[in-house]
Amino acid sequence: MHIKFSPEDERFRQEAANWLEAQLSGPFRHLRGSRSHTGQSEERRVWEKALGEARWSCIGMPEAYGGRDATLNQQVIFAEEYARAGAPARLGHIGVELTAPTILHFGTDAQKRSFLPRIASGQDIWCQGYSEPGAGSDLANVRTRARLEQGPNGPHWVIEGHKIWTSLAQFSNWIFVICRTEPDTKGAKGLSCLLVPMDQPGVTIRPIKQMTGDAEFNEVFFDGAVTAADNIVGKPGEGWAVAMGTLAFERGASTLAQQMDFRNELNDVIAAAKRNGKAQDPIFRQRLAKAEIGLRIMRYSSLRMLSGDAGSLSNAAYTYKIYWANWRQQLGELAMDILGPAAELAHEDGHFDPLVHMFLMSRSDTIYAGTDQIQRNIIAERALGLPKEARGAA
Ligand SMILES: Cc1cc2nc3c(=O)[nH]c(=O)nc-3n(C[C@H](O)[C@H](O)[C@H](O)COP(=O)(O)OP(=O)(O)OC[C@H]3O[C@@H](n4cnc5c(N)ncnc54)[C@H](O)[C@@H]3O)c2cc1C
Repeated sequence: MHIKFSPEDERFRQEAANWLEAQLSGPFRHLRGSRSHTGQSEERRVWEKALGEARWSCIGMPEAYGGRDATLNQQVIFAEEYARAGAPARLGHIGVELTAPTILHFGTDAQKRSFLPRIASGQDIWCQGYSEPGAGSDLANVRTRARLEQGPNGPHWVIEGHKIWTSLAQFSNWIFVICRTEPDTKGAKGLSCLLVPMDQPGVTIRPIKQMTGDAEFNEVFFDGAVTAADNIVGKPGEGWAVAMGTLAFERGASTLAQQMDFRNELNDVIAAAKRNGKAQDPIFRQRLAKAEIGLRIMRYSSLRMLSGDAGSLSNAAYTYKIYWANWRQQLGELAMDILGPAAELAHEDGHFDPLVHMFLMSRSDTIYAGTDQIQRNIIAERALGLPKEARGAA
């Protein structure tokens, strides 16, 4: 196990840190420290393009598509430096972290040539259309349907259905949709993954206001929306493996570097405790120390996971999502206890203190990218090799 990065990796770290510092103290200084997922969206769109131009957007992708062929370690290093520099939340993160690896892994050469450079350059912003009102953990229950029809410009898919909790749909021009294309099928069989343009009359987006005051996610309605027949990833009816691949990317390497964001959040909590005197209280001191220990365990666990063969993740990586999600929820609760009753008041502009926002957002950490219960099933089945969860007849 290597608990340090190599000198070559450290040189890469320095190059990334220098570029980020130059940008965030120069043309993009107005974005430094911005943690909002919905604010300054136009400025963050420009930022996506700047990342793309300097090839810092999709660094794990092959150079031919606008990436840097970066190793897994380098991807984590870049994400660490990104957070350390206080760079803004990425508008393009779903395209970069989910769509691009999915197309790279499962897509045709034509799809790779067409879609990947546009993701890497920040030209296309993607959202993920998986969940529906009756299909979250049980994704195989999706009701959205698509049928192949002959149109004036050749064959195309026509889509009808309703997605929900679609993060950043209002900023996206493409959506990755899981839907049923094979009539008279049930469960995981007969589903397909379609790449669908958002800017068309058949697509309606309705934002959902969250308790943070933001509306990061949305309902998306498809009423006869269309996409070209070729915009299918994998074979028709065999989209389940593709969808599961995407979810593995969502729970995998891309989350390993979040610790640097968590470091910033824990530092803010410690600073708040020092400001209001709670840092003198023995109970709060114990809880802060526990949070620090938890963060360090997270750091060393991720280094251990990364030290597997040829940069691939070990089985231990299955435990990572449930660990960080619960750690962060406890940090949110600690922040609220430290801030005390004042935390319940919104600022005059209707927004909460950033730590209160963090607490409210952290409630969703144990839901998205697989709930805690689903994570435990995954650990049981894939990491421990236990028998599969009992399920009712399909
Ligand atoms: C902030 C946020 C952003 C999101 N962004 C997106 C997005 O961009 N695109 C998208 O498609 N979706 C998105 N989602 C949706 C997310 O994927 C679902 O909320 C999640 O999969 C859970 O589904 P559900 O909400 O339908 O809950 P359900 O699946 O109905 O689960 C309800 C409860 O039952 C438990 N449960 C369900 N099945 C089992 C089982 N087999 N064993 C044990 N317990 C079980 C769950 O753990 C949970 O406690 C987002 C969600 C959040 C909170």
